[in-house]
Formats: sequence, C-alpha cells, structure tokens
Amino acid sequence: MEGWQVLVLNQTYEPLHFCNLRRAVIMLLKGKAQEVEYDGRVIYSPSISIQAPTVIRLNRYIKKPYLVGVRFSKKNVFKRDNYTCQYCGSYGVEMTIDHVVPRSRGGITSWENVVVACQRCNLKKGDRTLYESGLTLLRKPKKPYFLLHFKNLPQADGSVRANWNKYLFRD
Ligand SMILES: [Zn+2]
Repeated sequence: MEGWQVLVLNQTYEPLHFCNLRRAVIMLLKGKAQEVEYDGRVIYSPSISIQAPTVIRLNRYIKKPYLVGVRFSKKNVFKRDNYTCQYCGSYGVEMTIDHVVPRSRGGITSWENVVVACQRCNLKKGDRTLYESGLTLLRKPKKPYFLLHFKNLPQADGSVRANWNKYLFRD
C-alpha cells in the first residue's frame, strides 16, 4: 500500500487535505481522528491489524481561513466541476462554461448559475432553460467552500476515489 493516500476531513466533514496511510493510522491510534470510510483492505503489523482507511475525520475542529470564500473565476468553475460536463458527464476536451439560466433570460454569472459543459451540450442547450432543453444537471451548482486542485488528486483505485468523492463533491 505504498503511496496510499487518505483524505482527511475536518470535524465538520469538510475536506482538508490528503495524508499518507502511515500518518493516518497514527492519528487513528492516538485518538486524534476516526475512520470514516475504508476499502476493505487490512494492514497487519506484529501487534495490530487495522482496516486501511480511505477517509478519516479529525476529532477536533481546526480553523482553516483559506477554506472560506473561493474567488469566482472561470478557472475555478472548471476546477469545481472537475473539467466534467455537468450535463452528460464527458470529461476534458475543450470544455465551455454554460449559464444554466441563459443570460438572455436574465441569468447571472455566479457560482449557482454557471457550470462546465461540453460544446455539444452547450450547443444543444442554447438559449433555453434546463426544463425546455430536457437536459439535467449532474449536481446542483453551488459556491465551493473548498477547492482542491482536482488535477492533482492522488492516484487511487476507483473504489477509493468513490469513497473520497462522497466528501469532495457532496451537496
Ligand atoms: Zn456534455
């Protein structure tokens, strides 16, 4: 489990950062954190066996001023939506920013009204509302309270990522 990374949550379940497995286990053993998610893998040492956590939560709230208020920018919208079209789920290539309520209909440019969209979906949606276009959103857009550099998420199996995603992308 070399390179195994664990997502560390604040006491309030806000994601804070990643740490390595060794550090996570030490925090668990010292009672500084509790296991929130694990992947079924077990670590054995001469004295103990412990379920390898994928997500842990601190027992004490830590204040992180940088978590407050992510600046609105096109770049940060791409990060929030993980470069993924919020209509069809396609990823990566030549994404655009779409206004959920079109500007021509009075929609404003805000965290709650813009999403990443692929060119196809953007074109399909055009100047229509969500309802008129028949498209649905993968999740409701909102101001992020925290912004990981999603491109730099640690490498992990799909099941581990699924564990993380519950906390990284919760509503
Ligand atoms: Zn799309």
